[in-house]
Amino acid sequence: MSEVTRRNLLGTAAAATLAASAETARAEAPVRNATTPGVYRYKIGSYELTALYDGIWYRPIDDKFIANAPFAEVEQALDAAFMPHDKLATPFTTLIVNTGKRLVLLDTGTGGQIAPSAGVLRDNLAAAGIDPKEVDTIVISHFHPDHINGIKDKDNALIFPRAEIMVPAPEWAYWMDDGNLNTAPTDLKVVFLNQRRIFADIAKQVTQFEPGKEVAPGIVTIPAAGHTPGHTVFAIHSGDQSLLVLSDTAQHPAVFARHPDWQASFDIDGAAAVATRKTLFDRAAADRMLVTGYHFPFPACGHLIKTATGYEHVPVEWQTAL
Ligand SMILES: [Zn+2]
Repeated sequence: MSEVTRRNLLGTAAAATLAASAETARAEAPVRNATTPGVYRYKIGSYELTALYDGIWYRPIDDKFIANAPFAEVEQALDAAFMPHDKLATPFTTLIVNTGKRLVLLDTGTGGQIAPSAGVLRDNLAAAGIDPKEVDTIVISHFHPDHINGIKDKDNALIFPRAEIMVPAPEWAYWMDDGNLNTAPTDLKVVFLNQRRIFADIAKQVTQFEPGKEVAPGIVTIPAAGHTPGHTVFAIHSGDQSLLVLSDTAQHPAVFARHPDWQASFDIDGAAAVATRKTLFDRAAADRMLVTGYHFPFPACGHLIKTATGYEHVPVEWQTAL
């Protein structure tokens, strides 16, 4: 690059500053060897929201992963998403809503009990300046372990000791039914037994709600069955702003927003999961709603646009002021 072109690019003053700082910045910087906090804060009306990253799980998958598509097509989609063919990138983001009067946590993360690469929610709570004792209410979207395990630590102690725990009534009815446990395939039995570990000795602290009800001022639950029988999503309203919290309506959007018809092996009712996904995504795209998804890449919020074949997730721009 010629000197003249370089001057044109940087401007003479900027180039002078750069040259000066190059002189003084030759000290070796220590390698930190530690990650940075996964916290993102934004507002919906007067509500302050804090997205907290819990980490990521590379979920093993095989050629049965999608029930209604040939695996070659799935492999193409994984290639397009820069993912390996044998693992689905599964990040976890929980959300804290400060209504001004109450601190409400939507889903609780893995509690460090799913994969070594996840379980940093408590570190990120601390980085966000939130004491787990301050959380008034936990609202659960569904009973898969990555959403409920963070209620307790590995030693079964409550992580949010003062929080009321609110769960969808149809979710409780399905998973707490011993008949369903006894007839479940072996890999699903593990899920049923984990729920009993989490809930058995705290059942009295658990409140069931019917999806459709408002669980806190401005936090409305919406039935979204399919992924599980009581799977629930949330709409948060404050002032003239809203956020749609999609829970597990779709897992990673680079796979499931682009291929909304796909029925994943982990959906209890694949056809219902697809119908729910399309209904909610159509609404979000048509209304240009801000959305967040539990398994969307951190900070997990953005918008959905409709494409010729599915949907595309457009992440928010990271903001430095509220
Ligand atoms: Zn999940």
